[in-house]
Amino acid sequence: MLKNVLKLKLLLEKSKKIVITTHRSPDGDAMGSSLAMYLFLKKIGHSVNVITPNSYASFLHWMPGDKDVLIYEENKEEAEKITNNSDLIFLMDLNHLSRVADFNFAINNSNATKILIDHHQDPDMSIADLVFSDTESCSTAQLVYEIINAMELDHHIDKSIAECLYTGIMTDTGSFKYYSTTARTHEIVSKLISVGANNTKIHDLVYDNSSANRIKLLGYCLNEKLLLYPENNSAIISLSASELERFEFQQGDTEGFINYALAIKGIKFAVFIAEKDGLVKLSLRSKGIFKVNEIAKKYFEGGGHTNAAGGVSQVNVNETIKIIEGIIKKYNKELTK
Ligand code: 5GP
Ligand code: MN
Repeated sequence: MLKNVLKLKLLLEKSKKIVITTHRSPDGDAMGSSLAMYLFLKKIGHSVNVITPNSYASFLHWMPGDKDVLIYEENKEEAEKITNNSDLIFLMDLNHLSRVADFNFAINNSNATKILIDHHQDPDMSIADLVFSDTESCSTAQLVYEIINAMELDHHIDKSIAECLYTGIMTDTGSFKYYSTTARTHEIVSKLISVGANNTKIHDLVYDNSSANRIKLLGYCLNEKLLLYPENNSAIISLSASELERFEFQQGDTEGFINYALAIKGIKFAVFIAEKDGLVKLSLRSKGIFKVNEIAKKYFEGGGHTNAAGGVSQVNVNETIKIIEGIIKKYNKELTK
């Protein structure tokens, strides 16, 4: 880490044109780490653009720096031009270039020096010239804090940067409850609050800011769409495109629904399936030793962390449910240990 920090410090010594990007459908950590890096790099004198592959949930749009974000899918030409002319590209919260979808061509074509900052398992080291990978870190946002701190530039962390970092850490730790949350996480969060991050306000803006339709959709999922397999300690919730439409689905609306399935006593493995943008997307969650990233990789072209992973299915929602039912039978021993 220290060697890479010195290399990064050298790269940042002269003013550079920088692009920061992150994974498709960015979540709180992807946006939090990207916007924190954006505000920090701008503050130390660089010319910086944040480009996301596509749009993201409305509950993240309050974040400092958000109004400057360029969305690749909506501004391809401009995004490609900026990327092509950049000196440095930061890849945040992703372990593989496929995670940026079609934006990967522009990144590959650019001669910029690439820097990866990520906490996922099995990072593809070949996508960047400089890799900051810490799979133990609860969030990419925490890793960003550690890097700024190691460069001895943490005095630049102001209220806005702290709010972005807080959001990333809070969302990726399930509000500081996941196993990945450490004493160090709390130490960092304490520093972020001391420089002005308002924890109550941020929690409210992210979690208590839903449309009525979102809460009704949650009720519908739990009341009518929850499949329970108590003999396998597993649960599935699924939503078709037409069901999402019925509740006027907006991006981000189903975020967190899967946690309710996992909140049921005894449930160790939960799957959320939703038909979005013509794809059958899966979210997998577990408690304990059951490695959902391995399931995502083996069956659904995906990946992620031990207890939180995702992927896509090539068959429809009902057939995907059948596949999951097969998986929970197959892994019954591990799930009932
Ligand atoms: P979510 O269920 O919130 O969409 O994703 C949970 C985690 O799974 C993410 O943090 C990410 O690490 C991983 N993940 C989600 N979707 C995909 C995917 O399509 N491919 C890969 N490799 N990982 C994914
Ligand atoms: Mn993350």
